[in-house]
Amino acid sequence: MRILVSDVINLPQDNSKEAPEGRVDIGIEDGRISFIREHAPDEDQAACSPETWDQVIEGRGRLALPGLVNAHTHLGMTLLRGYGDDLPLMVWLQEKMWPIEDQLTAEDVYWASLLAIGEMLRGGVTTCGDMYFHMEATARAVAEAGIRASLSRGVQGVSGSGLRGLDEAVRFCREWEAGADGRITTMLGPHAPFTCPPEFLHKVVDWAGYLDVPIHIHVAETVAEVSQIRQDYGMTPLEMLGANGVLDLPVMAVHCVHMQETDFKLAADKDVRIVHCPSSNMKLGSGIMPLPEMLAEELAIGLGTDSAASNNKLDLWEEMRLASLIHKATAQDATVVPASAALEMATFGGAKALFLEGVGRLLPGWVGDLILVDMEGLHWQPLSNPQASAVYSGQRTDVSLVMVDGRIVYEEGELLTIDEDRVRYHVHKSAARLGL
Ligand SMILES: [Zn+2]
Repeated sequence: MRILVSDVINLPQDNSKEAPEGRVDIGIEDGRISFIREHAPDEDQAACSPETWDQVIEGRGRLALPGLVNAHTHLGMTLLRGYGDDLPLMVWLQEKMWPIEDQLTAEDVYWASLLAIGEMLRGGVTTCGDMYFHMEATARAVAEAGIRASLSRGVQGVSGSGLRGLDEAVRFCREWEAGADGRITTMLGPHAPFTCPPEFLHKVVDWAGYLDVPIHIHVAETVAEVSQIRQDYGMTPLEMLGANGVLDLPVMAVHCVHMQETDFKLAADKDVRIVHCPSSNMKLGSGIMPLPEMLAEELAIGLGTDSAASNNKLDLWEEMRLASLIHKATAQDATVVPASAALEMATFGGAKALFLEGVGRLLPGWVGDLILVDMEGLHWQPLSNPQASAVYSGQRTDVSLVMVDGRIVYEEGELLTIDEDRVRYHVHKSAARLGL
């Protein structure tokens, strides 16, 4: 399939000379970006003819961005949106989430995953990093809906079923790594230091090394977690992971709200990838991650929504805006986390956090994950700085076209790979059965 995206606005891509800024034409062939060149309406018209291209998309001055990356989600939990609002993390987990999760079937997780993917694609998210159970059901949804995903079957070592879960997780990696034409990659997902004691972590480390997959884990989300780990092991959660060999593997650490300066150095030293989830951390009252300090350490940082049960939206535009604004407020410094940094975290930073190569920028040879954003809305006018406007004025409903791996999955208000009415029906049916 050869697609030409004609006359769109391109932003600077990491100072690369391979992709000019301003009005460009973008060629996508066999799922990859083949060229980005200055828009030339008069010359080389033949290149734009339907005979040369399978499809020509008239950009008409819309903004082209790399697909957004939601680096941390729990897609199956989308069914629990609005269930357990306004509760602190441990109460929320122990009294609401864990009991109802015992009743979720693979079928529930499948429809919840399609619901989440539909919501994300509509908002321009082309890649997600997921951790949950019944992960085969989520993988099926990912394969069908056409999104890109790094999937991990979440495991905990404090219950009797921990080893069975780890067996399932290992089997999942073996079956699904490079699945869905390469759109699916896998990780192992030990839930958190406080739910995975050292002996369990050692097993996870052995398997991750053997399978050659990264680790996806929640770290230092609350003060209570940090206190408990300090009481049990005399160190911070990140140090506890380091002491048990976890940081010798590629690791994506989510939340990192209560990190100390020594943790920043350890993370930098071990090249730990970080995911910032501002909405979830605020909604659960967990706190605010020290993002400016972590950016100063040049850590690779992506953005995540966390689940719809703690957010309640899977909206990267909102996370991007919040990631910029809340840190300006807490630092009392308008210069921290500028728009360029927020956009970087929402795209390339997230892809890097997920250990994905060739994802997160619009550059020749990189994957054809691209979104077009309508800048006609009054909230964009006057259009003096498209990059800053994307972060501070842009919203999910401005996305008019979404392409993943060179395939158009959303266009002009319609999801092309998901039957929304069917998803709505099944999600309501599951919710009714669960008494949600
Ligand atoms: Zn999470």
